[in-house]
Amino acid sequence: MTVASGPMSADVVIRMEGVQKWYDHFQVLKDIDLEVHRGERIVICGPSGSGKSTLIRCINQLERHQKGRITVNGVELGPHHRQLDTVRREVGMVFQSFNLFPHLTVLENCMLAPMKVRGTTKADAKATALRYLERVRIPEQADKYPGQLSGGQQQRVAIARSLCMNPKVMLFDEPTSALDPEMVKEVLDTMIGLAEDGMTMLCVTHEMGFAKSVAHRVIFMDRGEIVEQNTPEAFFSAPKSERTRSFLGQIL
Ligand code: ADP
Ligand code: MG
Repeated sequence: MTVASGPMSADVVIRMEGVQKWYDHFQVLKDIDLEVHRGERIVICGPSGSGKSTLIRCINQLERHQKGRITVNGVELGPHHRQLDTVRREVGMVFQSFNLFPHLTVLENCMLAPMKVRGTTKADAKATALRYLERVRIPEQADKYPGQLSGGQQQRVAIARSLCMNPKVMLFDEPTSALDPEMVKEVLDTMIGLAEDGMTMLCVTHEMGFAKSVAHRVIFMDRGEIVEQNTPEAFFSAPKSERTRSFLGQIL
């Protein structure tokens, strides 16, 4: 067993080092350093346009960074398919807009990636899908289409669908901000359940109650930078920078 530090550490699921990204001449990520350790739960918050979604999207290669290094589970992300495969296999992603396939049933949505990407048999994919639909408490919706479900139910299907790939880490990008208020809790409860099971999670959210009860670390981003990060207790009771204080003043 190696020491749990250094570049080869098995304990680091995601490592970003000096990551920079531009959209044309606009720099959207400035020198981002971030390590996510196995079992760690991180909440990222910050004003609209600060680069939170871009950071998450660079980790799962929906966007490409132009400088610096990103490694997922020890594999550096580059232009080769094998690495893209690593990301698709190891990283689960839940978006604000649920992104389910509308023409597939809930069950089929959950079975697709394991069969296509992992080569899982249909029978095994179905058993796994039903198990995770059970876990997000909607097994009875398995044969419906996404359009027949409420937003909260669709988001829980999206979470179940990600879990079916048995990811090492789950990325969430404002998973409750498109939901009607009465549906926010059911999705947060599902995420709290994942946290209790020890899932490694990187969540962009402004649900500060969730951050306080679940996060090991809260990161505040502004203008493409990580401005400050701390335990939730310290972050909320004694924010260090004026930008953080002003942001918290607006949302709390
Ligand atoms: P956040 O998620 O914190 O609101 P984003 O990562 O979505 O921030 O966006 C950060 C900045 O990058 C914003 O100014 C946004 O307008 C800009 N941006 C995001 N996506 C693109 C794109 N595809 N092309 C050009 N600019 C973009
Ligand atoms: Mg965003």
